[in-house]
Formats: sequence, structure tokens, C-alpha cells
Amino acid sequence: MLYSKLFGRTRHNPPCDADSVNAKFLTQAGFIEKLAAGIYNLLPLGFRVFDKINNIIEEEMNAVEGQRLLMPALHPIDIWKTTGRDKTMDEILYRTHASGDKEFVFGPSHEEAVTPLAAKYINSYKDLPLSVYQIQTKFRDEPRAKSGLLRGREFGMKDMYSFHTSEEDLDEYYERVKQAYLNVYERCNLKAHVIEASGGPFTDKFSHEFSVESEVGEDTIIVCEKCGIAQNLEIAEGKVADPDDKEEKELPMELVEIERGFTVADNAKAHGVPEHKILKSVVYSVEDEGLIAVVIRGDLNVSDVKLENYLKKRLRPADPKVLKEMGLVQGYISPVNMPEGVNISFIGDHSIKNVKNFVTGANEHAKDYKNVNMARDFVVKDFTDLVEVKSGFACAKCEKPLKEMHAVEVGNIFQLGTRYSEAFSLNYTDKDGKSKPCVMGCYGIGNTRLMGTAVEVFHDEKGIIWPTNIAPYHVHIVSLGKDDAVKDGAEKLYTDLQKSGVEVLYDDRDVSPGVKLNDADLIGIPLRLVVSNRTLEKDGVEWKERASDKASDVKLSELSDKVKKFLSK
Ligand code: ATP
Ligand code: MG
Repeated sequence: MLYSKLFGRTRHNPPCDADSVNAKFLTQAGFIEKLAAGIYNLLPLGFRVFDKINNIIEEEMNAVEGQRLLMPALHPIDIWKTTGRDKTMDEILYRTHASGDKEFVFGPSHEEAVTPLAAKYINSYKDLPLSVYQIQTKFRDEPRAKSGLLRGREFGMKDMYSFHTSEEDLDEYYERVKQAYLNVYERCNLKAHVIEASGGPFTDKFSHEFSVESEVGEDTIIVCEKCGIAQNLEIAEGKVADPDDKEEKELPMELVEIERGFTVADNAKAHGVPEHKILKSVVYSVEDEGLIAVVIRGDLNVSDVKLENYLKKRLRPADPKVLKEMGLVQGYISPVNMPEGVNISFIGDHSIKNVKNFVTGANEHAKDYKNVNMARDFVVKDFTDLVEVKSGFACAKCEKPLKEMHAVEVGNIFQLGTRYSEAFSLNYTDKDGKSKPCVMGCYGIGNTRLMGTAVEVFHDEKGIIWPTNIAPYHVHIVSLGKDDAVKDGAEKLYTDLQKSGVEVLYDDRDVSPGVKLNDADLIGIPLRLVVSNRTLEKDGVEWKERASDKASDVKLSELSDKVKKFLSK
């Protein structure tokens, strides 16, 4: 491609509303152009990257017998009513009315489209297993579209759906798709952590997320770099180091009057103790029940999700007004001598078991108890693991320190069971002649998000550094100088490389060397070849890899082999 003819040029300045590296560089380098918040044009350079990512995805999905099809983006509302997701996903659904009073939604996902479709063709166990996928545009009215391609309102997704006769068959296929997903990320040069997550609130089905480390990521994950286990922060398990005071003698409990702030740090400072010695009570209001409190070490936090999973109920932080009406004083609530008539059950996090002589509130303003000890001074209803894991906790498996990192979810796979097949009567006749619902799995990769993530991971201050497999072109030829010899030399190189199957962008513009070289860095094609009078005198070109600072001269006679070797790395 001749750069002078390319639709979508570099810009001198980044867009002023770019809130992330990918939004900034992809726009500035002419890959994408924003139409509205979360809605982007993919320009020719951007589309080439998108296409390459999709080709990788297609190859890997075909390798697990996925059959590619294309489903409509516009769905009659009825199919969404069938599963009730017109209500549960109401917030993000784009709805539209057609002639008459027909209502449609723009598909945010396709379980509701694929299941009735499959029901038309699946009759017998002989039709199973079956796996179909599409690469398609999804629509979600995200409350906050942000970070360029990472959270769009209109975005690309590969979604695959599989149908099975049994959970076992799904399990086996699910593992194969998990591996296919890892292949996709690896081929894009991205290290994806696999995270076991719940299949959604209150189901016993599970799911796996694929997450790539990046500062801009909205998720926090906990990773053990030794044994490779990655966990979602909300449900991560890990061992907290025991304090060295667990052999301390239990001292007599004492009531003290003290003016202090409300935070654990203020409290610890006022009493001159480390934060782990503060016994913290966190009160929640539980759906259809009253209040419940978790007691935990002051230096640790409660994971709301672990607590919800333990109680199997939804919860929210207790309303301060309700607490006040009950005669409780925020910041001083504790399980020690609760006021008469207050009915709160306390659950203990394991972390409090090995601490002696806690400091905790006395359920009165400006009054604390010192030397509080479990069992002797208070009891809890039950103990469980409710702690939010953080960096420095030990891996539950190998004891090595865990690391907390921000990450972008680039894919998600789910075991759906028979939820959708039952809703749409997707049944098959089994060998025993009985009609049974199909067991389903679904598998999504955000392909536009993947493109944005690659830029978040592969860039420097000058621009993007594309991994070869997903780069828009392999080689960026830059001609420096206006002489015919330079022009002819560059053009010959352009033609020769293309003939040997190399994808080339040739900057043939009549602009200054500085502009051309800066643009090459911004666009980020893996290999830059400069042709100038200087290089031609030596029968060569200047070779510079985008990922390296070093440039060297390479003879034209050796170039073709060297380029091939570079591209096959
Ligand atoms: P998130 O938690 O980030 O909102 P999700 O869990 O709702 O995503 P899924 O329904 O699992 O998303 O969709 C499959 C994949 O599609 C995600 O793993 C992600 O890579 C991508 N994706 C989801 N929402 C968006 C979006 N708004 N913009 C770009 N990609 C997205
Ligand atoms: Mg997801």
C-alpha cells in the first residue's frame, strides 16, 4: 500500500478526549475514528488488524469443529421475553420500534437467537455435539463507554455456542475451547490468565474469564506467578500471614474512653497498636433478613461476593440511619456487649483466630475495649473465609506470594447447562427414545477489545509496537530524499517484497524525513526499512525493528532472506 493513497492519516496531535493509550495512539495513527462515545469507525489500517485477529480466531474455532455462520443483529423482543433477559439485561439493551408496534432489540449477545435456531435442526442425539460461531457486532448501552476500544457501545465479538447430550460431553468440549482460546491470545502475543469465575449470581454453573494484565484494565485479579493460578479478586483465596503476637498472653479486658477518628488507621494510632489488632465489624443488610456483621482484622477487608456466596443471599451495606435507630454508633460497633435488644448475628473471618488482645468499639461513642479476646469476650455464629485477598498473601497451593494486578477481560466462556434449551424447548431424542434438553456452552472473545488491549500492552512513548501476527503490514518502507535513484530503489524494494508475499506499507510522500520516521514509530509496523542515498551507496537499506532502538545496514542481496526469517520469528 502506498501511504500517499491510504485513507486515514496520522495526526500531529492526539485527540483531546482520548482517555487511554489505545484511544490515543489508534486515533492519532489513523486506525480508528470515533463517531460517538463508545462507537468507532475502523479505518483501513485498523480493519487490517481486526481482520488478522479474526483470522486467528476463525482458525482456532474451526480447529474445534466450530461452524461459522452469521446471525441477525436485530432481534424481536419476544425471544428476550422468553428468557426474561429483557428485564435482567434491561439496562444495557438498545430497543427500537419497527412499523406497527413491533419492538426489537439490538443483540447484546446471541443465546436468544441461536437456541431457537438450533431447535430447528437438532432432533436426535445423532445431531450432537454441535458447535456454531459468528464474528459479529454487538450492541450494549454501557453506562460508561470508555478506554477507546476496551468498552464500546457497539463492539466486535466472536461468539460460539455448543450443544451436547450430556454435562460430560460439554466438559470435554469446554476444555478444548479453553485451550483454543489460549492459542488465540498466544498467537496475538498476549499472555492471558485464566480465571475461574462463577457462572453468574447463584448458579452452580461456572465460567472462565481470560484476562490480560494492563494498568487500564477494569478488573483486579490475583495471580500466583509460581504456579500460574489466577483468581478474581472478589473470590480469590489466599493465606494471610499470621501476626507474631499469637503466643501473647490474654490480658484482662478494659473499657477506655478515647477521642479518635473513625478509620482503622486513626483507631490504631490513637491506641498505639498495629492495625491488625483492631477488631473491625462490618455490618450488612441481608435480603429478606435482618442485619449481619462480619468481624475481621482491621488491616483486612471483607469480600462482599464471598459473603454473598456464603449466605446465598444478596446484601448491601447497612443503612447508617437504621443502625442509629437501633442505638448503634458507627465506628464503635462490635460483638462485645451489644446493647440490649439489638439482634445482629456475627460471622468471623478466619483471620481473627490468631490475634490476641484486640482493640474494638464498646458500642458507645468514644468508648473502646482493650484486650478483647475471642471466645472469652465474644463469640461468633460461624467462621468462614471472607477476606479480600491482596498482594503479599501466600498462594493457597504453593505458598509463594500472590500478586494483585489490573487486567482486561478479553474473553469469557460459560457452561450454560439447560437454561436456554429449556426456555426454547431445544430437545433431542436420546438413544433410549426419551426427549431431553440439550446441554449448552457459550464462548465469547471481544475482538475489538483485543485490538485495544494489544495497543495497551505493546507501545512506547512514540507509538504502537504491533506483534507481527496482527500488525497491519509487516514492513514499512520509508524513502528519504527526492532523488530519482532513491525513489526507484524504494519502489523496486516495494515491488520485490510484495512479490515474495510480504505485506508492505510504503511511505512515498514528499514530506520531511522527521515526519516520515515519527509516523513510522507511531503506526508501529514491526520492521522499518529506510532507503536513502546513503544506503544505496552501500547497495543496501537501513534495517530497524520497531521493538528495538538499534538500526543497522543490510545488503539488498541478503534482504529477502533476512525479512523472511524476521517474519517467521
Ligand atoms: P465486561 O464485564 O467487561 O462488561 P462482560 O462480562 O459483560 O464484559 P461478556 O458478555 O462475557 O462480557 O462478553 C464476551 C466478551 O466480549 C468479553 O470477555 C469482552 O472481551 C467483550 N466485551 C464485552 N463487553 C464489551 C464492550 N462493552 N466493549 C468491548 N468488548 C466487550
Ligand atoms: Mg464476561
